[in-house]
Amino acid sequence: MLTLLIKKFKKLCTKLIVACLIIASFTGTVQAKDNQYIKFYTNECQEYMRYQVERVVDTFNVTRQCEVVIRVGEYQGKAGKRIYVNSQKINIPNDIPVRNDGDGKGFYISEWDINLKEAEALTKKLRAQGVNAVLQVSYNESTDLNAAGRISNKSNPYLYISLHHNYFNSDSEGYFAMYNPNDKLSKYVANRLSDSIKDNGMVKQRCNQQNTGYVGELNSIHSGTTPVLLELGFFSNISELEKICSDKYVDYVSTNLSKEIVDILNTDYR
Ligand SMILES: [Zn+2]
Repeated sequence: MLTLLIKKFKKLCTKLIVACLIIASFTGTVQAKDNQYIKFYTNECQEYMRYQVERVVDTFNVTRQCEVVIRVGEYQGKAGKRIYVNSQKINIPNDIPVRNDGDGKGFYISEWDINLKEAEALTKKLRAQGVNAVLQVSYNESTDLNAAGRISNKSNPYLYISLHHNYFNSDSEGYFAMYNPNDKLSKYVANRLSDSIKDNGMVKQRCNQQNTGYVGELNSIHSGTTPVLLELGFFSNISELEKICSDKYVDYVSTNLSKEIVDILNTDYR
């Protein structure tokens, strides 16, 4: 009897170890500067079902002050969200500053500046199409992460769209959207927004990702608002950095995202 139990226990352990190994091989975690972790999965894209969306009934007693919040990801000068470009030949437009923080590490480009360029272009195009869009910008830590979600909740938009760019390896590439699990609308809007820019010819489309709880701003959005976070390319890859800063990419992405957002609002929200 005891031998049988030990055998069963051994079998279970082997299964657990195999399962852990499989999970480990599909998951990558990297330590970015200043202990900020960026995590993404390398599993194959799933075929997403296009389903009819049920409209969320807003149970919050907050006046809807705008239709869409476009959030500039991170805050101005945030440490750990930079790529140092010392002695690099790099081709970027004048509206993306190369900053020197005076700490001896030299010159860097900040994710926040790239996010800002894209977010300003998108907000402008949404407004031109009659959308009541608010640009939400953080200049310091106090309005970052969870606080960003709480600030958006006060204006109670239909959509909260946060624009970011990503840091991993020097050859990482591609863009993707992040959505909250168990939120059908979040996943639906993420898929539509990602698909709307897949023919950009510069940055390839990757699988969309679930927020498994570590994306503070998505955690804090109330259920009357649909949140999506877009990682629009890797600034750790110099070749992709040049693309995501370019007027051509920013114009393509903001034009196509704005059209898709207008269509989503008309079809599923207004
Ligand atoms: Zn970011």
